[in-house]
Amino acid sequence: GGAAQLYRAGEDAVWVLDSGSLRGATANSSAAWLVQFYSSWCGHCIGYAPTWRALAGDVRDWAAAIRVAALDCAEERNHEVCRAYDVRFYPTFRYFKAFTKDFTTGENYKGPDRELQTVRRAMIDFLQNHTDENRPPACPSLDPVRPSDLRSLLDTRGGRYVAVLFESEGSYLGREVVLDLIPYENVSVKRALSPDGALLEKLGVSSLPACYLIYPNGSRGMVTVGKPLRSFFSSYLKSLPDVRKKSLSLPEKATIEEGPEAVVWREFDRSKLYTADLESGLHLLLRVELAAHKSLAGAELQTLKDFVTILAKLFPGRPPVRKLLETLREWLASLPLDRIPYNAVLDLVDNKMRISGIFLTNHVKWVGCQGSRAELRGYPCSLWKLFHTLTVRAGTRPEALDGTGFAGAPQAVLQAVRRYVRAFFGCRQCAEHFEEMAHDSMDSVKTADQAVLWLWKKHNLVNSRLAGHPSEDPRFPKVPWPTPDLCPACHEEVKGLASWNEGQVLLFLKRHYGSDSLVDTYAE
Ligand code: FAD
Repeated sequence: GGAAQLYRAGEDAVWVLDSGSLRGATANSSAAWLVQFYSSWCGHCIGYAPTWRALAGDVRDWAAAIRVAALDCAEERNHEVCRAYDVRFYPTFRYFKAFTKDFTTGENYKGPDRELQTVRRAMIDFLQNHTDENRPPACPSLDPVRPSDLRSLLDTRGGRYVAVLFESEGSYLGREVVLDLIPYENVSVKRALSPDGALLEKLGVSSLPACYLIYPNGSRGMVTVGKPLRSFFSSYLKSLPDVRKKSLSLPEKATIEEGPEAVVWREFDRSKLYTADLESGLHLLLRVELAAHKSLAGAELQTLKDFVTILAKLFPGRPPVRKLLETLREWLASLPLDRIPYNAVLDLVDNKMRISGIFLTNHVKWVGCQGSRAELRGYPCSLWKLFHTLTVRAGTRPEALDGTGFAGAPQAVLQAVRRYVRAFFGCRQCAEHFEEMAHDSMDSVKTADQAVLWLWKKHNLVNSRLAGHPSEDPRFPKVPWPTPDLCPACHEEVKGLASWNEGQVLLFLKRHYGSDSLVDTYAE
């Protein structure tokens, strides 16, 4: 929750959408849209924000034809709309064509990468995928002039500027310049593909791309720019005498008028584990992350069942939550169906059946997972804490798993976590990295203690990979953990080299993630 703002309406060229404005903006719109559904806690999304801002700024002048937008699926008020649009992983990029009348969840962007230039070209391809009827009216033709039409075009008798960009097949420059000039009047831009050599010679074109310009008074000739680049051609044409920016009648800018909500800082002790973090994380896991899947079947359903079994048996904390998890486990186990609509799980989690004594908060309240800014820490922090807690409790109270099929299986928790992350964790990059690590070495785990240490080691690997990343909270730097102040005994020097005492680390982890340091303050 909170007002994590990777993008600011008005400040960035990105159109900031939300649950209230997405549908209205994209339905029957005179422009096409490219919307990034992101999550403000997703580190990769945070790292990508500068590219998205730069892209939106770069194509600002294309807005009457296509717009670059963003919607934060981590915002509580947007959970529902992200579900409705079937957004499961972050970031997800979707195109919406102009003039779509029926509800659509959009088309996925499937580019080879997410570099600015690749996405910009894909936007052009997408615009060209419109039919003549649904093409944004503000979008000039992006197709090359037919060779048979070229001579008559070049013979045009002025009246206004006509620019013809000669370029080779596969070049996007012409189309980019065409789109750049959308808001400008008194000039029209066409593109022509490598015409025959005789024509080029007659026009005086020696290399491509090149721009031929017909002036309003009928005179004509090649344009000379410093470098044959999009920006040079575009700015040359924009600065011609009498070429002016039109006052565009764009639809109302999507409005969201909430400033950053004040986030109250709660004092806490870094050597403790807070129920509020675990329960807030569980709330988001059950009501948001899993809820992004409208129904579950087959392997995914089995993954959910196993994960819920582990939770029901090992989740620490308050009785109403544990009872809820146990009820959910029993219900899932008793299901004869091979596919369930996720709404049925939500009904149970929200206790629509009014079973007494079961309850899970539906508010997010971070304590040990507070970030110094709203988009930092939070959910992924709570997931790590949950996973560590589960591995530790499987070691300290193995009897809890008796009768579940996981009894005596040292990898049971790790495998359940692994499959949860692979199938459901919204941060796709995180899931891929985690799966790589699991694939490489999870098989070596032979005891419950080794499972605890495996997760600790891998988490430290992730920490060191992410040190210095934009998603790092300066108040919670990514350093090898536990730090010497938290656990002096964990740290040693062997021949002058800092090293871990793993026996001590194990003891520390069992204390830290065991019931001893679990604190209920702030849980209400
Ligand atoms: P976190 O790393 O979330 O740690 C939470 C708390 O756990 C810490 O405050 C500390 O109390 C404790 N802790 C720290 N280290 C350890 C340890 N070694 N053992 C036990 N406890 C520890 N983000 C990316 O950008 N790229 C990724 O590839 C990525 N992969 C992830 C994979 C998983 C499975 C998860 C759950 C998250 C992943 N994230 C990834 C998110 C990232 O790891 C952090 O969770 C996020 O940046 C928030 O960081 P944080 O400062 O709250 O600390």
